[in-house]
Amino acid sequence: MTYNRVGVVTGANKGIGLAIVRQLALQYPKSPLNSGSFLIYLTARDRGRGEAALEDLRNDAQLKQAQALKSDSGQTEIQYHQLDITDQKSLETFAAHIKQMHGDGIDFIINNAGIAMNGFNAELAKITLGCNYYNTMEVCHTFVPLLKPQGRIVNLASMAGHLSKYSDDVRKRFLAAKTEGDISGIMKDFISAVEAGNEKEAGYPSAAYAVSKAGLIGASKALSRAEQEKGSKILVNACCPGYVNTDMTKGNGTKSPDEGAQTPVLLALADIKGATGEFWQNEKPIEW
Ligand code: NDP
Repeated sequence: MTYNRVGVVTGANKGIGLAIVRQLALQYPKSPLNSGSFLIYLTARDRGRGEAALEDLRNDAQLKQAQALKSDSGQTEIQYHQLDITDQKSLETFAAHIKQMHGDGIDFIINNAGIAMNGFNAELAKITLGCNYYNTMEVCHTFVPLLKPQGRIVNLASMAGHLSKYSDDVRKRFLAAKTEGDISGIMKDFISAVEAGNEKEAGYPSAAYAVSKAGLIGASKALSRAEQEKGSKILVNACCPGYVNTDMTKGNGTKSPDEGAQTPVLLALADIKGATGEFWQNEKPIEW
């Protein structure tokens, strides 16, 4: 079956990712990109959790009332596919599926999957940067050739990645970075500083999650620049969903997951006038 629009959401079995899938289904009929059938891939690393989330959406009263899903005579379909962004084989399998099923390319990928670990040491910092920075960017690189010419990449970063938390020198280094390699160099130096126990003296916060998200914002900007230099029209943006009540924030978040989903959904579906390389919060680009 051929779909007019196809999108992917990572880490979509719960929290903001699940709400993003739900909001995509609810908002697509009103979006300027609405041109017929829409397929959303709800991806999750665990099949059981992913399929249970899909079942929840099929029984969702608001989606039913809006007749948002195909089974309710809507034009949107949601399919589960396994994807663990830290597992190269899983990424390759999913990418091969996308290539086979959607030869003309897909419209967007929303990189929502992320981790926040308790504690702080070099080992935990490597795992955190591994998933939130290196693996997320690996997903971006895998998907660039799978997108339509005007496709979109939306990366879930965080205000925790704002540069106000760094020394002047590190902040200048982030802002001067032109390539993803420059940003990866900063990530590498952070890990070395954590290993040496002197990350504060080196100008970083003692917070791997924050550094991983700063890296993701910087690398999203670098990827956007690289795509523009190639003459590509792919839009790459990073965003903060706000402080959202999910398992990650242990019930302390002040926004609902549906509220947290608004900016990433806008970046995937709305007419954003070609904006790329920006960091967004509350549905607007903000200074990094
Ligand atoms: P949750 O912890 O509630 O959900 C995280 C999701 O990511 C889960 O579905 C989890 O799957 C999935 N995930 C984790 N690792 C992987 C992996 N290797 N491969 C695939 N999926 C994975 O977090 P939130 O919903 O709160 O956060 C979603 C995103 O938003 C994250 O990137 C987070 O950093 C960002 N964010 C959240 C904020 C908040 O206030 N909540 C604020 C700013 C940013 P599983 O269930 O299998 O663990």
